[in-house]
Amino acid sequence: KVVPPADIYLPERINSRGYDLAVREHLNRYQELRMPYAEKIWRAGPLTAEGANSGEEITICNPAFPDRVVGYVIEADAETVEYALDAARPWDATPEERAEKLRRIADLYEANEGEFYALLTREAGKSPVDTVTELREAVDFLRYYASQCEKPELAGRKPRGVIACISPWNFPLAIFTGQIAAALAAGNGVIAKPAETTPLVAFMATRLFHLAGVPETAIQLLPGTGAEVGGLLSGDARIDGVCFTGSVNTAQVINRSIADALSPDALLIAETGGLNSMIVDSSALPEQAVKDVITSAFQSAGQRCSALRMLYVHQDVAEQFIEMLSGAMDELTVQDPWYHSTDVGPVIDAKAQESISDYIDRAKAEGRLIKQIDAPEEGHFVGPAVIRVNGINDLEREVFGPVLHLALFGKQEQLQDIINNVNGRGYGLTAGLHTRIKRRQNFISDRIHVGNMYVNRNQIGAVVGTHPFGGEGLSGTGPKAGGPHYLPRFYVDEMTNDPV
Ligand code: GLU
Repeated sequence: KVVPPADIYLPERINSRGYDLAVREHLNRYQELRMPYAEKIWRAGPLTAEGANSGEEITICNPAFPDRVVGYVIEADAETVEYALDAARPWDATPEERAEKLRRIADLYEANEGEFYALLTREAGKSPVDTVTELREAVDFLRYYASQCEKPELAGRKPRGVIACISPWNFPLAIFTGQIAAALAAGNGVIAKPAETTPLVAFMATRLFHLAGVPETAIQLLPGTGAEVGGLLSGDARIDGVCFTGSVNTAQVINRSIADALSPDALLIAETGGLNSMIVDSSALPEQAVKDVITSAFQSAGQRCSALRMLYVHQDVAEQFIEMLSGAMDELTVQDPWYHSTDVGPVIDAKAQESISDYIDRAKAEGRLIKQIDAPEEGHFVGPAVIRVNGINDLEREVFGPVLHLALFGKQEQLQDIINNVNGRGYGLTAGLHTRIKRRQNFISDRIHVGNMYVNRNQIGAVVGTHPFGGEGLSGTGPKAGGPHYLPRFYVDEMTNDPV
């Protein structure tokens, strides 16, 4: 037997370990770390190099208890935005120095994990399991891009300049950190605009960047709305690129303002939505498929762009499958996410709750609601629901919540129709497939146009460095986050100034 040298197996960077909350000692530790922050009220505001931080103060409440205050934030006014734009500079440090600082920030994140866990639950409604994976992902992004920027291939390149990082509330720490870490790893300066609903966690994170020694001209934070702060940033000629995760509509608005205001070579990286499907054929292992459907559709209350929206089940197994799915849904615990037994927490705010609930009610009125489980009355909760779709091509828009659509398919030829339909939606983020027929795995994965295809497992939770994440078409511009092609986009060639 030939044993390959050990270094083949040794990754150059090991992902953060986190906690397994199913293990009693881990759970105890987690709760102990988080406890001091159970009642804390946070204060946040703009962090600019000149110290400008004027604007209106907004109250942030807990999505599970809308009248409980979590903190206060000052949203940057136009004057503060102007100060930040004027002060922003690329980060003048060697790749080794930058990598060292990014690793230090990762360590600081871990050293402050309890406060992050509490904040992610109380500000963003994240369940304990989701808080653990979110912090891990954030830390992994920091260490991953730190390693990437030290690669010899990236010598002879220089940063683009100043990047505006506009991040979403559904991963208020992980995506916030990933965008910034990449831009900084390449030596750019960053102005970050966190989502309106989750500025407190972004503020805490940015302070740790400063504490680790990243200059205040290289990372500034501007809480505020997309329309105001986001608009001012993406249309300003002092910006050399925008890194955005959010809706397709907003990405299009940003794209237009970049086209109007910036050089043709300016960077736009947009990660947007998805209308993600899963196919379960008659050879699938039903228990496994049901478990993965539940995770893909309802974990994080369905508020992931990777989440499963449209499930196709083979008609021969449909009856049994729907019965099992329905039983598994009855086991879900929808409650205040502070409790570790929570499977599904609240959606982000009243507006989201209303629009998702209206959508479900409309399906119910049309006789298409297969199942919905109860949710607490108080708080922005939506009970996970399954809705029947007539025919295989009825899905129109992304409903960003715990809503799963279901259609049955019969003949083998219909698989091609499903593939055409999935590809024809214009989005291409994730897809899932449960089958034990190898030939079918190849047939479908060769034809379906998505960024991330998962076979015989759930379709959320891409792991940094292992599953580079990002879609095609309306789902995003690429390159994939947490993969080797991401960082190079943040540089230009030292001699020609061309993007590389
Ligand atoms: N990366 C996340 C996942 O794989 C989704 C990111 C998002 O929702 O924007 O589930």
